[in-house]
Amino acid sequence: MCYNRPMSKIAAGTEIESYCTKCKLILAHTVVSMDGAKPKRVKCNTCDGEHNYRPKKPATKTTAAKKGKTTRGASKKSRQSWEDTMKEAADKPHKKYSMSGSFSEGDWIEHDTFGLGCVQSFTAPNKITVRFADSTRMLVCNYS
Ligand SMILES: [Zn+2]
Repeated sequence: MCYNRPMSKIAAGTEIESYCTKCKLILAHTVVSMDGAKPKRVKCNTCDGEHNYRPKKPATKTTAAKKGKTTRGASKKSRQSWEDTMKEAADKPHKKYSMSGSFSEGDWIEHDTFGLGCVQSFTAPNKITVRFADSTRMLVCNYS
């Protein structure tokens, strides 16, 4: 006598397995809202977190993220040391950058737009390569 409410019918309030974005596991969830015949929003029974229904663990994404994390971790490390260098440099005397200024390798300069940077090299007669927090730029110096 149960053909009026088949077990496979999913509706708001139905318990369903979904990937939890917070727990990072396939767990029992409760359907919060539906998108047609499919669950749209679900609530994790474990952490009470509400998120979009994900029937499967995002496997490819996780692999890509892991790969990206490794690469990012490496680049972050070198970036970290640069940030440390910059932090230390902030306490050191640095020159205000201007096109007419004279700078040499190893000088710390403060640029109106790019902020603090370190002169990497001087190219005669009037160019310097400066490394800023997020970029390396060529600037004019000794300009008259
Ligand atoms: Zn959860």
